[in-house]
Amino acid sequence: MPLDPIEVHHASLVIDTHADTPQRFLDEGWSFGDALGSGMLSLDTAKAGGLDAEFFACWVEPRLHAGEYASRTFALIDAVREQAHIHRERMRLCRTPKEILTARAEGKFAALIGIEGGHSIENSLENLRAFHKLGARYMTLTWSNTNEWADSSGDLDDPTVQHHNGLTKFGRDVVREMNRLGMMVDVSHVSDKTFADVLEVTSAPIIASHSSARALTDAARNLTDDMLRAVAANNGVVMVNFYSGFLSEAWRAARYTQEAERKAAYAALHERCRVEGRRVLFQDELAIDKHFAALIPPAPLSALIDHFDHIVKVAGIDHVGIGTDFDGISAMPEGLHSAADLPKVTAALMARGYTASDLEKLLGGNLMRVFGAVGALNASRGAHVVRGEG
Ligand SMILES: [Zn+2]
Repeated sequence: MPLDPIEVHHASLVIDTHADTPQRFLDEGWSFGDALGSGMLSLDTAKAGGLDAEFFACWVEPRLHAGEYASRTFALIDAVREQAHIHRERMRLCRTPKEILTARAEGKFAALIGIEGGHSIENSLENLRAFHKLGARYMTLTWSNTNEWADSSGDLDDPTVQHHNGLTKFGRDVVREMNRLGMMVDVSHVSDKTFADVLEVTSAPIIASHSSARALTDAARNLTDDMLRAVAANNGVVMVNFYSGFLSEAWRAARYTQEAERKAAYAALHERCRVEGRRVLFQDELAIDKHFAALIPPAPLSALIDHFDHIVKVAGIDHVGIGTDFDGISAMPEGLHSAADLPKVTAALMARGYTASDLEKLLGGNLMRVFGAVGALNASRGAHVVRGEG
């Protein structure tokens, strides 16, 4: 392996497990081959940044899309598949590790599909299987909202929400059915008890598609050291989130002081849209978040590297990866603006003493191992017996 960080980066298979870009396809009519605009990921920035594969998160904002969780998920999946078709000279929809390698060998960007938030299946294993048939290869069991079968870390303090103390019986069936289908179980966003329940049920390695270390930044979205060790014991992988609010206590504290003003801006946006008779889009709210985030001094790049470093020290180099959360977050550390900046992360890690072979694992090798193991389990699957009652 080469020693120059830029060469190491481009020689490695680079996989990111989380980008919220599909909403741009669906709501803005923005095409992946277009100029970046307000986003963080495009075909050109992926190429410039040596990003070989992306899991496009199909995420349905539960407040903005009440009553249409499954249909909106199908529309987001369709939007990703359409992009892969429109840009077929430059990208290809992939469903297996082997297809990622083939796409890379052909010089094409590998597009993969993930589902973010178990509310998308609307309590139906038939929907789960339909998403899988269309190419979805992981599902984040919850988003920030607790659904009818799994508790989220995002609303545990909300007394109006019906919680379950982790996974319900049906929630356990969902995990088993994902194991059987060969879909990676994603524990980002879930409550600590849901996390523990998942590890009790799953027969396959799990992922956290976009979570950082709670020992360094005390966000409920981040994983504690015990959880990091549990993922390592399960042979899974934790993909580090690039959001400044999950990486820096100082940034997080500054963001907290803006809460009242930010909520007022949200309320004004919703009122404006009501008067204009148009639907509020996630991108409208994200624009507000970006406005407020820009008022806070950026977290240093070293904060991100600290999280990688911590997870490696606690879980080991075989259990860490990249889960940027591109197009879903309002601020990244200093110097990071888009996928084109990913080589800077490799350079900073190598400056900390990480070797080319460490980087090969972290940038994509670890995720390929887990993806392969989950798929191998599926290869020997029988007919579905899970009915999902209860
Ligand atoms: Zn998320």
